[in-house]
Amino acid sequence: MDIEQINHWIEEPLDARPEEIENRFFNSFENRRPEQITYNELRQINIPEGLTGNQLDGLVEEFGIEILAYYIPFHFHRPNRPWGIYLRRVGIDHVRRRLMEIAGRDGHNFRNLEIPTNVAEHILLLHELRHHAIEVAFTRVELQDNTRDEYQQYIRRKRNHNNTSSDTEAICNANVANNRSPFKTEPSYVGHTLRFRPPLPPNVMIRLDWNDYVSQFMIGQPAGYRDFARFTGFSSKQVLELLQLPRFWFREPRKDYTQHSQLSILRRLPVPIRVV
Ligand SMILES: [Zn+2]
Repeated sequence: MDIEQINHWIEEPLDARPEEIENRFFNSFENRRPEQITYNELRQINIPEGLTGNQLDGLVEEFGIEILAYYIPFHFHRPNRPWGIYLRRVGIDHVRRRLMEIAGRDGHNFRNLEIPTNVAEHILLLHELRHHAIEVAFTRVELQDNTRDEYQQYIRRKRNHNNTSSDTEAICNANVANNRSPFKTEPSYVGHTLRFRPPLPPNVMIRLDWNDYVSQFMIGQPAGYRDFARFTGFSSKQVLELLQLPRFWFREPRKDYTQHSQLSILRRLPVPIRVV
């Protein structure tokens, strides 16, 4: 799917009734109009430490990733809530802190925050990109059928049936679990303080595979979110059938779903990213 087709939607968005979680997310920055940034700019942003309060920890346990980051679909685009991926600074900080705690149990001690910050951003981006990919697959069927109702019906099912909602969140975290390459970081300077291993000399370069730490972080999330392993082996066809996409076996919606789930889509098609 290309950006012109999405821009066409933005001209005539549907009327949306925000969910409780959406209001909760957006109330925290109501008067600010966040600027859209690119994927490369995101990777340069400095996220200060210690933004997270105890209150956010409780909300994450209750609401999952949606309190840390949010996706506004282009179907429900509004001037005060433009479509795209929103990442909260406190959300990135929260995920980074959790990851460093989990990796810390293996003796990793980070002097440079850049790598854990990028890993945290990729977790949130990949989860929200999957929400975007689901919208795009439904939009493809709507374009084929000349209707504007299929995605709205899916959103309605998600609100009214807890299973659709929790399956969706597990499917979005499965996108994090399946995209393993962003979590194999380049060699970098990390401290190592394992008790029974001599400390590495200063400035030694080691390559760190974050995948286990990322999985452990997701297993600590609420029901639905933590059930991602059920869906990591699912094909695009199986997912779209589960989400009741009409003609889920058609090639185009499946291709859109797969392509728009990847980080590379952020370079090819400007999915708006905002840090709030
Ligand atoms: Zn989600």
